[in-house]
Amino acid sequence: MTIRPILIHPDPRLKKKCAELLGVDADLRRLAEDMLETMYDAPGVGLAAPQVGILKRLFVIDVAPKETTPQPRVFINPELTWQSDALNIYEEGCLSIPEIFEEIIRPAAVRMRYLDMDGKAHEDEFDGLAATCVQHELDHLNGKLFIDFLSVARRGLITGKMKKLKRERARD
Ligand SMILES: [Zn+2]
Repeated sequence: MTIRPILIHPDPRLKKKCAELLGVDADLRRLAEDMLETMYDAPGVGLAAPQVGILKRLFVIDVAPKETTPQPRVFINPELTWQSDALNIYEEGCLSIPEIFEEIIRPAAVRMRYLDMDGKAHEDEFDGLAATCVQHELDHLNGKLFIDFLSVARRGLITGKMKKLKRERARD
């Protein structure tokens, strides 16, 4: 397994709609394993393929509480099939927008259809942190970031901070 570099906003690859995957093969399994390794190393609770520069419809999550058994999950070609009218607010962050946390309102529960690492189809319901996480990651596959929910002014400020961070990292 390899830890892959995570793209930092702003990056054109984070704004693209990702392509459907045609099947699950050894290369895709390797990519999913690398993404889980990269997510745990960061550390984070979710990572989408475009965040490592792969514009395919795939993301991984693990929302198990810290110090409990890890529960890695892989979502291939995910689609929302239902969302609750009830809303929930979570303070979200993103590995592509480090050290920024903002309260975001989303449906409190969703149902998602997806394929697992064996190419098997599932449709599951998510609530709590998992609901927020799968919606955040699905947005990545459509070129949407959580800061797109914020005001233009707030988003501009965060983008400025990220540009500065990237300049500093490039210098090091
Ligand atoms: Zn993210």
